Amino acid sequence: MKIILLGAPGAGKGTQASRIAGKYKLLHISTGDIFRANIKNGTEIGKIAKSYTDSGRLVPDEVTCEIVKDRLSWKDAGQGYMLDGFPRNLFQAQQLDKFADIDICLNIDVDESLLMDRICGRRMCACGESYHVSTLQGSETCAKCGGKLYQRPDDVPETVKTRLSTYKSQTAPLIEYYKSQGKLYSVTSGEGSPDDVFVQICAILDKFLND
Ligand code: AMP
Repeated sequence: MKIILLGAPGAGKGTQASRIAGKYKLLHISTGDIFRANIKNGTEIGKIAKSYTDSGRLVPDEVTCEIVKDRLSWKDAGQGYMLDGFPRNLFQAQQLDKFADIDICLNIDVDESLLMDRICGRRMCACGESYHVSTLQGSETCAKCGGKLYQRPDDVPETVKTRLSTYKSQTAPLIEYYKSQGKLYSVTSGEGSPDDVFVQICAILDKFLND
């Protein structure tokens, strides 16, 4: 099964991706994670990506597409995968069609008014868990592994504004693109709890697997 996870920043793609990967044994490929790892390790790709991720703009297509094309050619991608954060515009989607055969595009649809608070209140742990400050009661450590929580540098209001407008102008049109390919499945209650959203996603994926 080859899946794309689509949704605005803050829609909960990362949270759902970990759950989907666990249940369906799918490789989780997040372009955002790949860029953050490259930035941390000071690689050439990281040097290119930093100014874009810091300001909430998209890293140039030629860099991003090449990374994904290469990653999908690894042996472990042969059993299926889930793309989280790619494609992010029409050009990337068209390129992806040249080197991958996607089965499903899962769109997590969340009311726009909720996104700013969700992202700016998000706190991350290196283990992959994420929290919202409103539920942390002042705690700064991860309930799962005890790691120190941090705020992503691009989860601040000015950058989030750019990310949301980039999503609207460049990424949202992909909903129509995958609809026209008959591959779009929307989870319409993205405002629900992560458990609610996951139940809906599982229903879609189970149906696909059983058809
Ligand atoms: P994310 O973790 O998906 O929110 O991505 C964080 C940042 O990485 C984005 O704001 C972009 O700067 C960059 N990025 C991630 N995926 C892509 C992509 N498919 N194309 C271009 N830039 C990307």
